[in-house]
Amino acid sequence: MERGNRAVPALVDQERPVPLMTSTSKPALTAERARHVHRRRVGPRRPGGVYTSGTDGETYVVLAVHYGADARAALGHPMGWAVTVRTADGRERTHCTPWDPRRDRVRGDLCPRCLGPLRRHPPGGPCPARV
Ligand SMILES: [Zn+2]
Repeated sequence: MERGNRAVPALVDQERPVPLMTSTSKPALTAERARHVHRRRVGPRRPGGVYTSGTDGETYVVLAVHYGADARAALGHPMGWAVTVRTADGRERTHCTPWDPRRDRVRGDLCPRCLGPLRRHPPGGPCPARV
């Protein structure tokens, strides 16, 4: 059977490739359930949005949200979804850390380009950061 190293029973599908279709089960339900699970793990993250991780305190802008074959290509291994982010130091990476509504935060107060406070930007003007 499978080796379950992660002690998160509610997220049992996490390391399993999602079957796109099988001949015997109910493909519509399976795909629909997979989409629901993937959307929940991505959470409110959208391209251009800024978020702070409750795990490591890191703030990042989401560059892309991937699903299905796109996620597999971006990650290099089978996964139903992934996010590509850029952190304040300019590093970009693609990962599949699930959104945690208890710890992670949406940062509408921060600029998606420089990750600095929007209130410090010139009113109506462009971001002064050279990114
Ligand atoms: Zn800015």
